[in-house]
Parts: sequence; structure tokens; C-alpha cells
Amino acid sequence: MSLANQAEREGEVPVGAVVVCAGEAVGEGWNRTITLSDPAGHAEIIALREAGRRLGNYRLPECTLYVTLEPCCMCAGAMVHARLERVVFGAHDPKTGAAGSVFGVLGDSRHNHVPLVSGGCMAAECAQQLKQFFRQKRDGKGAEGAPSPVTRAKQP
Ligand SMILES: [Zn+2]
Repeated sequence: MSLANQAEREGEVPVGAVVVCAGEAVGEGWNRTITLSDPAGHAEIIALREAGRRLGNYRLPECTLYVTLEPCCMCAGAMVHARLERVVFGAHDPKTGAAGSVFGVLGDSRHNHVPLVSGGCMAAECAQQLKQFFRQKRDGKGAEGAPSPVTRAKQP
């Protein structure tokens, strides 16, 4: 959740992810799609990339990825490719969640690997963090609580 706060400080939707292997954090990420102009710059992808680099392996079979929000289709696909042992997520995402809420990408047995999935871990706290962010956006306030016409202009 503190990584999600880092995303929020950068004006991004607050989502944070960490990859843990043998009790050690080997990859961390927070949402950076705007900062990096990268449509794939989700917290989970960034954390997986760092973990792969650190471990010198594109497969992470003994790793668990923790993320504050249910992963989307793209991230769920990357998690299957990474052969993650386990995925733990916080809030469910009724709009784009790919761990059962909308799509069932993570648990689909047609994949050659299906990670264990635990959802709803600290869900209330994680959901609250996102709700608060979007509420502030709607109110035309930035992450620091100061009025931000830029933020308001970006609203559709
Ligand atoms: Zn994603």
C-alpha cells in the first residue's frame, strides 16, 4: 500500500505491487503509466520485470506477487507467463479484474500454468485508498489536496 501511495504522489492511480521470493522482496512496482508514457506500466508488470532482472530468470516459479488491486487481463497474462506460484490481491476490481471479477484469466485451466490466487486481502483498506484518490480527483484536488486545474482538465 505504501508503493501505491508512491504512485499517487506521482499523480497516478494508486496501485502498488511487490514480488516476494523466499521471504525477500525481489521486485517492487507502482503504477507509472502516465509518468513513463507506457500503456503497460502497471505496478505488477514493473514489479515482475524487476524480479526477473534480480533473479536472472524470466520465470518466477517460487515467487508470490502481492498487489493492492485485482490484476487486469494484461497483468494476469504476465503472471501466468512468469509461472508465479501465488498471487495475492487486495481490492476486487468490478470493471477490469481478471482474477474472477470480470474475466477469469488467472484461474483459467487452459493455461499451462495456474497460479494460486488469494483475493480480498486487506480489501477494505486497499479499496478505500483507491476510492479516496478518485474522490479527490473528482473534487478537482491533486494528491496533496491542493486545487489542480490540470487534473480537472484531464477529466473526460
Ligand atoms: Zn494491469
